[in-house]
Amino acid sequence: MQKRVIITGAAGFVGSHLVERFLEDGWEVLGIDNFITSTPENLRSIEQNPRFRFVEADVVKLDIDSLMDFEPSLVMHMASPASPVDYFNMPIETMLVNSTGTKNMLDLAKKSGARFLFASTSEVYGDPEIHPQPETYWGNVNPIGPRAVYDESKRYGEAITMAYRRLYGMDVRIVRIFNTYGPRMRVNDGRVVSNFITQALTGKKLTIYGDGSQTRSFGYVTDTVEGIFRLATYEGLEGEVVNIGNPAEITVKELADIIMKLVPTAAGIEYLPPVPDDPRKRRPDITKAMNILKWKPQVPLEEGLKKTIDYFRRVLKT
Ligand code: NAD
Ligand code: UDP
Repeated sequence: MQKRVIITGAAGFVGSHLVERFLEDGWEVLGIDNFITSTPENLRSIEQNPRFRFVEADVVKLDIDSLMDFEPSLVMHMASPASPVDYFNMPIETMLVNSTGTKNMLDLAKKSGARFLFASTSEVYGDPEIHPQPETYWGNVNPIGPRAVYDESKRYGEAITMAYRRLYGMDVRIVRIFNTYGPRMRVNDGRVVSNFITQALTGKKLTIYGDGSQTRSFGYVTDTVEGIFRLATYEGLEGEVVNIGNPAEITVKELADIIMKLVPTAAGIEYLPPVPDDPRKRRPDITKAMNILKWKPQVPLEEGLKKTIDYFRRVLKT
């Protein structure tokens, strides 16, 4: 396989780490982003690399013919708002990037004869009735609630990806990413890890939505990126759908307690009303990833949180 990859959402939190992983492995990388939920800052360490090219564009409207000269062997569609606050604020952009944007990137992969990877999410499982969630679970999603703009457009993205496989015999893969945290998350992106760390470092109370008994399973970004890298690059995985996440499940209250222990300036907890349709629990079944990718998470939560706190200290200059 020629080592030439197009990565959409390249300036984002996960996307920028993924670009680095491919550059480390000797690939030429063409990144695309329109910065709706990121800034060029995330590309600072990457843009000097001669094997990296960047196109500022909206993938929904992008003319794919303008990219054909790059001759990608792999197209990875990572672009999409991912924080609930972002997709509540940008519902139409979120739906379009995961629907029309996915179709546009599938067409680019098809025309180039490239492999295609779609970045999906644990949100396709909605508020799950099966626990932990294996890839065979179809999910429990409210199609008209506020989260639907994300959940349902990711489900559409998965459906059209598999339709292109059935119709055109393309080599496609789908990664269902579970909650990921780490350096380059936006300070104000509204996700729980960034909120709690920012609040703790600035001497504010940590805001828990609801009673804090809801659970999540947090994966450190280098672990997530390694899983995605393997799913994208290993041979013989056509049509596979794989969960990537850390099965170490904790409640939101326990997360707050750990962060308050690591950041002594935290000013306690403030309980706020629950957000609508907030999934009660979430934990990946990663048996498939362990079997076919020989992958499992390496970074324990406290270690990952310490690195993330160090990053936030630098950004916030605390
Ligand atoms: P992010 O918001 O940091 O990055 C997304 C990037 O996509 C941003 O740079 C944004 O500007 C770009 N983008 C959005 N719409 C675009 C468009 N129309 N054209 C071009 N660029 C566009 O989010 P992230 O956490 O890095 O998430 C990356 C991907 O992983 C997303 O597809 C997301 O749904 C998925 N995901 C992330 C998580 C997580 O916990 N971080 C969990 C599940 C799934
Ligand atoms: N949450 C919280 N306080 C915050 C932000 C989030 O209690 O300041 C909760 C949120 O209600 C959810 C969990 O933390 O139950 C994870 O939220 P996040 O937005 O990080 O991601 P999600 O898994 O919901 O996509």
